[in-house]
Amino acid sequence: MFQTIRKFIAGGVAAVRGGHEPEVRVLREPDGAFTVGSSYTDHPHYTRRCWVIRDGKAEERDIHEATVVEGLFSARFAAGHIPPDREVWLRNEITALTARCCPWVNCHIGPNLYVTDLLSGTNGAFWGYYHPNVGEYGSIFVNTELRTDRVIETTHHEIWHIVRPCLRREALAAVDAHVQRGSRWANHAYLNEADERRARAYAHYAMLWDEGCSVPVDTSDIDIGRLGLGKMDHLRVFWSVYSGGAAREIQRRTAQEAA
Ligand SMILES: [Zn+2]
Repeated sequence: MFQTIRKFIAGGVAAVRGGHEPEVRVLREPDGAFTVGSSYTDHPHYTRRCWVIRDGKAEERDIHEATVVEGLFSARFAAGHIPPDREVWLRNEITALTARCCPWVNCHIGPNLYVTDLLSGTNGAFWGYYHPNVGEYGSIFVNTELRTDRVIETTHHEIWHIVRPCLRREALAAVDAHVQRGSRWANHAYLNEADERRARAYAHYAMLWDEGCSVPVDTSDIDIGRLGLGKMDHLRVFWSVYSGGAAREIQRRTAQEAA
């Protein structure tokens, strides 16, 4: 009986979609309950787990306790479908990445990210988002229900945004000297914004490393706080953020100023 129903649904969906593979979301495990009132929770990849990551530690949250509301800003996740092994891999990878590049930041990850930011007039579904004033020292939000490499690229992108205010002016000028030479994106103000250009360029750079294509970089004297203006270039700034050198330098400088 259940098999008949499953075949009927699969056949119906395939017909609607022109004979392609059936939409996996409507399928149930062969032995799963398929009764009136059953829901997507029968699907083996259903998850309502989210994670809050900081200082190299990840804490699990249910989507219903994961909503972040501060002032005119709110971010929330919705239950989604992520294979458990992928979910765990992403959590571990993003935990290591943020511990290296911005350990002081709250990083929220989960399926189906929605953000409402009344101050900037933002409202909708996002791959990633950041807010410098939400959480004790700023927050990053990443949607994990994307293809794995997109999740990591988005994390790199948001890391740039959240670290950028801590970088020296000379470092930003070195990056701008290159990205401002790039071609203009027609009719798309967001894509042409200065820090969006930097963030995308940085994420591409980081992904090159992640894919095993090392980018030539002089790793000596890489501390961007000690580099003279003449020695600063965009690849060294990107390497500093990616390698965690910038994070160490930012914390050292902050400790000095606090002393
Ligand atoms: Zn951005």
